[in-house]
Amino acid sequence: MVNIENWKHITEELAQKGVTLVAVSKTKPATDIQELYNAGQRDFGENYVQELMEKQPALPQDINWHFIGHLQSNKVKYIAPFVHLIHGIDNLKLLQEVNKQAAKHGRVIDVLLQFYIAEEESKFGMDETEVTECITASSALPNVRIRGLMGMATNTDDQTQIAKEFDRLTSFFNALKGAHFSNVASFDTRSMGMSGDYNLAVAHGSTMVRIGSLLFGARNYNK
Ligand SMILES: *Cc1c(COP(=O)(O)O)cnc(C)c1O
Repeated sequence: MVNIENWKHITEELAQKGVTLVAVSKTKPATDIQELYNAGQRDFGENYVQELMEKQPALPQDINWHFIGHLQSNKVKYIAPFVHLIHGIDNLKLLQEVNKQAAKHGRVIDVLLQFYIAEEESKFGMDETEVTECITASSALPNVRIRGLMGMATNTDDQTQIAKEFDRLTSFFNALKGAHFSNVASFDTRSMGMSGDYNLAVAHGSTMVRIGSLLFGARNYNK
């Protein structure tokens, strides 16, 4: 069930701070998305290409679709015609493929580089060197525009630890901006924070949060 009260509260709170809310609608039906859209939400996040491809044609065309999951290179072509922002670029080959598919559609696709901040082996992401390599290489990729970094903190109750991880992303972001790469001019986005830690994320430099369960209720599948 969609929680409109939570949505209103979170939207007002984030608007004051200039933070963008991405409503994470994975596993939820199009009717739930439509309900939140009717309330005024325009940015939605999905994790699975197949699911996004089924929902996108059935819903209003002015929705900004964020792809927040792990993206395989061979699936970029399916979302390239319409995707608004790809959060999880985690290797150069993928970035090159997004550039190629964007060119086919005469688009420039906005992307975030996924920076590894967690102390868990399971999460995807790049280290400082790999992120820097992507930024350098992007000068030859005119159909992608790198807007910043995305990160996921360790799944732990230790707030100090989580705060430290968010701080790491924010300082690396600032270092990259300060390094004056010609192609970080469009760098303005730090995507971090989910239902359980978005307040902490905002306090530690997030400009874009990805919230699912607080808006749509718990998910049936642990996806
Ligand atoms: C599912 C998911 C979210 C939202 O998680 P909630 O805890 O439901 O808010 C955010 N980011 C990513 C990458 C996700 O996969």
